[in-house]
Amino acid sequence: MDVLLSAERIQARVGELARQIAEDYHGQPLTIVGVLTGSLIFLADLVRRLDLPLRIGLLQASSYRGAVTAPGELRVGPDLVPDVRGRHVLLLDDILDTGQTLAPLVRHLRDLGPLSVRVAVLLRKVGRQTVVLEPDYFGFDIPNAFVVGYGLDYNDEYRNLPYLAVLPTAGAAEAARDTR
Ligand code: 5GP
Ligand code: MG
Repeated sequence: MDVLLSAERIQARVGELARQIAEDYHGQPLTIVGVLTGSLIFLADLVRRLDLPLRIGLLQASSYRGAVTAPGELRVGPDLVPDVRGRHVLLLDDILDTGQTLAPLVRHLRDLGPLSVRVAVLLRKVGRQTVVLEPDYFGFDIPNAFVVGYGLDYNDEYRNLPYLAVLPTAGAAEAARDTR
């Protein structure tokens, strides 16, 4: 698979994000809420570099995007979020694609009475957003390709790759085989 972002580049950028976040919250307690499952690796690396008093929560979200259901309709799964009332919340996800997952989650969290809600994503796909959502923190802008690794899966596999790779399309994989 073609490596899009090496483990070293990702680690360096996560370190920069951690410094930026710590500076912005200057010592105020924070609740980091990760979106399962893709954000886990990013979350684990980020929090270990964050010099802030913090709590960790997790959210599961499944979206229905078929023609039958309204776009962006989102079911928020078992609530593993600690009480965020009166706390600063940073919602964390692996990738911002259309935005249809994160936008409703921001609204969901706002309803729980936090002091503030900000959004951090490791990756943002250029030109793909269908809802207005500006992440407060993002690691890298990437082209519109299906990527795996560093938490991101294909069929629940590849999440453990320390780097980010472009998953070859069925056609591309065949072409590569043909030229061998
Ligand atoms: P959105 O709701 O912004 O369209 O999509 C966000 C979710 O779609 C991400 O949390 C992620 O689970 C999935 N996703 C979007 N693009 C990719 C991709 O290139 N690779 C993988 N593995 N998942 C993606
Ligand atoms: Mg996801």
